[in-house]
Amino acid sequence: MSEIRKHYFLPEYCIIAEERAKRPSDFAGAAEGSEESLSESCVFCAGNEEKTPPATAVYRNGEVFADTWEKRVRNWDFRCFPNLYPALSPAPPSPGFGKDPEVLPGFGFHEVIVESPLHGKNLKDFSDTEISGLIRVYKDRVCHYAAHEKIRYVSLFKNSGKAAGASQDHPHSQLIALPVCPQILERELKAIREVEECPYCALLEKEKASPRLIHENSKFVAFAPYYSIGPFEVWVLPKEHINFLGNFSPELLFALGEILRAVLRSYAKVLGILPYNHMFYQLFETPEYHLNLRLLPRISTAAGFELNTGVYINTVSPEKTASYLRGNE
Ligand SMILES: [Zn+2]
Ligand SMILES: [Zn+2]
Repeated sequence: MSEIRKHYFLPEYCIIAEERAKRPSDFAGAAEGSEESLSESCVFCAGNEEKTPPATAVYRNGEVFADTWEKRVRNWDFRCFPNLYPALSPAPPSPGFGKDPEVLPGFGFHEVIVESPLHGKNLKDFSDTEISGLIRVYKDRVCHYAAHEKIRYVSLFKNSGKAAGASQDHPHSQLIALPVCPQILERELKAIREVEECPYCALLEKEKASPRLIHENSKFVAFAPYYSIGPFEVWVLPKEHINFLGNFSPELLFALGEILRAVLRSYAKVLGILPYNHMFYQLFETPEYHLNLRLLPRISTAAGFELNTGVYINTVSPEKTASYLRGNE
């Protein structure tokens, strides 16, 4: 029989419908066509630096540089530049804006973080230096935008594969800095402020000892959340209460890279190459918040029921997910 499960601390529900469950091998087809292909015209590849806007930050051997229109930095490890087709832009609003108080100018920043100069490189195959280097770039860029007086939220995420929203095969993450706090975080914050103990600290204790635990290192826990909106959803939480990447020590950055890579390796082993998103939930202005990273393979589609209700039907239980990803099945 299926099960209706309530979110840990929000009035939200999902349906775990295992009788419709499939084996992990049934999902492998979802990734078809998302196999990374080499593209000579890829604008993210090393050598094509002129084809993007000048980089705002270029990392080489741990040092940070910036491009100019005339001169682009070569031989980089990571490269961050404004998105060519930004959802929001830092340009001042055109005259006429502000007449309708419901309409805000599309102010904000939209940045691409290219994770490697190599087109076919996969995060799961990154060395210790590469993966912790990337997490440091994440921290730097989030801090850069968090320091802007008009920015209230920095969304940091990765779309991997077409079904997950990626328009480029080349490994990259994105960051969108918003002048407002988005509703998902507002709703969580309201619920967090209504209780005495941080609900994330509480659920962390529970999940560490549950059959949903997948990986654990000295600083982080990765588990399939009891309330999971899709097959193979994974949450990664720091064991200590910490609200945003800007407060991460070098040890935390390293341990985060290590556990993220471990989850991606488990995914690859069980599901092959698959489209997925990873997303950071963090609030730089709010110490009550507990940073978390969520990974969601895009192997089920939100359809009429999900859009109508916000209730997601998940055909692989979190317990099964954890068992597969731990390598027990
Ligand atoms: Zn490329
Ligand atoms: Zn906490």
